[in-house]
Amino acid sequence: MKMSPPSSQQHKCHPKNIPNTAIKNMLTQAQKRFKPYATVTWLSELLANEKECEYALWKRTHYQFESQPSTYDPSEHDEMLIKRAEKLQNEGFTVSVENQNSFKYKSQNFNICVAGRPDIIAIKDDWAVVEDIKTGKHRNSHIMQVLLYMSILPFAPETQHLFKGHIPHGRLVYRDEILELPKWSVDQKFRQRLWQLMVMLCNSQPPNPTPSQWECRYCKIPFADCPAKLNQGEKAQTILVAVAEK
Ligand code: SF4
Repeated sequence: MKMSPPSSQQHKCHPKNIPNTAIKNMLTQAQKRFKPYATVTWLSELLANEKECEYALWKRTHYQFESQPSTYDPSEHDEMLIKRAEKLQNEGFTVSVENQNSFKYKSQNFNICVAGRPDIIAIKDDWAVVEDIKTGKHRNSHIMQVLLYMSILPFAPETQHLFKGHIPHGRLVYRDEILELPKWSVDQKFRQRLWQLMVMLCNSQPPNPTPSQWECRYCKIPFADCPAKLNQGEKAQTILVAVAEK
């Protein structure tokens, strides 16, 4: 899929002049987004077929839900990131990390903003590398995540100057292994799958939910927004009965 660079006006994903307090109040319920919005991480799991429920991703793309507190401890990841960045610097690369690499990209082909933040971008002469650090086990969604970075970074307004229109080399850095993803890994099959996903996400009508025990259990879409949610129906009924009996 050719993802064309946006004009200076187009990469704004959120409207201006909305006070933070207003945004905070709006987050107590699912709020329709002003424009469809997705992160690279969300897209990766469906692209890798690690998740099947397209409805869940469509909902998150079109609505903003209250965020849940995270139990993730980033210390191991951060330590690996610092070591890796130092190694690349010692090899003569100019290295940028995490927040320095944030982008919000709006394609000219689709009415959606895709945001991401690769762990490392390293540049030396004409050699550009994007890397992501992983502390857990190998997953196909990690590969999809890096392929998305490789596809989008050359066109995102914040990073396009680093890549001069060329797809960078990709790497996944695990504790025990480094997986190389040459630029030709962004192949026709990947582009086609990404295109199909974008068509689905940018449709004004949601796809049908695909409930399953595993996905519904960890899904961030609340029962009120997904009547197909497994188990949660029973839970809601139990709560209603308990309230009625008081
Ligand atoms: S609760 Fe289940 S069916 Fe509903 S959106 Fe989530 S995964 Fe899909």
